[in-house]
Amino acid sequence: MRGIYFDLKMWKIILSKMKLAPKFLTFKYKEDWPKPKITHDNQVLVKTLNSGICGSDIHQVKLDMSYYASILSSPLNPAPIGHEVVGIVEKTKKNSFFSVGDRVILNPTVHCKSYGFSLCPSCQRGDWQHCYTLVGRGDKSDREESFKPYRGQIYGGYAEYFIAFEKNLYKVPDNIPNHIAVLMEPFTVALHAVLRNLPSDSDSIIVMGAGTIGLMTIAAIRALHKKSKISSIVRYPHQAEVAKQLGADEVLFSTPDKSKFYRDVAEKYDALVVNPLMRKPYIYGTKGPDIIYDTVATESSVEDAFHIIRSGGKIVLIGMGFSITKKVDWAVQVYKEVEITGSFLQSIGEFEGKVIDPYEFGIKYMSEHTELFENIVTHRFPLHAYKDAYSALENKSKSHAIKVIFDYT
Ligand SMILES: [Zn+2]
Ligand SMILES: [Zn+2]
Repeated sequence: MRGIYFDLKMWKIILSKMKLAPKFLTFKYKEDWPKPKITHDNQVLVKTLNSGICGSDIHQVKLDMSYYASILSSPLNPAPIGHEVVGIVEKTKKNSFFSVGDRVILNPTVHCKSYGFSLCPSCQRGDWQHCYTLVGRGDKSDREESFKPYRGQIYGGYAEYFIAFEKNLYKVPDNIPNHIAVLMEPFTVALHAVLRNLPSDSDSIIVMGAGTIGLMTIAAIRALHKKSKISSIVRYPHQAEVAKQLGADEVLFSTPDKSKFYRDVAEKYDALVVNPLMRKPYIYGTKGPDIIYDTVATESSVEDAFHIIRSGGKIVLIGMGFSITKKVDWAVQVYKEVEITGSFLQSIGEFEGKVIDPYEFGIKYMSEHTELFENIVTHRFPLHAYKDAYSALENKSKSHAIKVIFDYT
């Protein structure tokens, strides 16, 4: 089968880390990868229909991601890649919950319930994003030993077929087309960030970044019926339109001149701007944005967030565009008493007293509001054209790309 796997040879890693590697050195595209096989009764073979390229995949290929979240910390080689997937069930074991031909989306986070393990302390709280199995631990007294039979049994949508655990698949209703179903995983990532950091109707919110996660964050706030004022910070005009379509009240363009940008934001909020000597201006006092969802999460965007958040406000970092920061002045955070929190993947959530499975919530919302998500997938490529696909995503000003997907149909 056609597929791209991540090839973790030491010399390739070293060259990449030294920034001497040609791009895609760690990608191994082949037409004849062996078709994966079901090895356990709780698994299903899925034929990929569409697979999205996540912003994190771009960092993975450059190996410039924090080691903690990097594919380098995976024990597998070659490692499968691709976690935004819609596909068709191709094969099941007897008595499966799924039938051949079912159209499904994938929760790529494999956790205790997926394996059928007794629940680890994280999973007992519904926090599958912190599951012990994610670091290779099973459920017996020797946790590593019980996990061994499953090594290598993880997802990978950059391939024609992949093995999934039944517990990680969800059936897709007929009225959600593939190019919308493929957005389910990023939607749940945004939903989780918003559920854990729920704004009030009177809050003024800034969503930084209008890539897929930024746009999905706007959608998630509205999906939770929040009337908060949302300002979307975008870089390109083609993003502005979609941000508004999904529920942003206004759009602000980020500019390379940061001082000007910070002053522009302050003016919008009628906030007090302080102009320290030899430093950039910043918003001071309790008037200004109440919550910033930073979906870019680079050193530069974190610096922006620190400067434009109001005193006592909250910054939610979604994503890992940075690792060790050197330029951000953390004293600003102390001085303004800003609350900073991270959000990773998704988990079982709670909303208005009800327990929410983020995928079930997303499927219901998307099936009732398909029109909202219509213009997010902008580019489709066959898998072998992966270099063109990445290039479209990395040159958004020219390509006008938002979500780029691989199309196997
Ligand atoms: Zn992702
Ligand atoms: Zn667990």
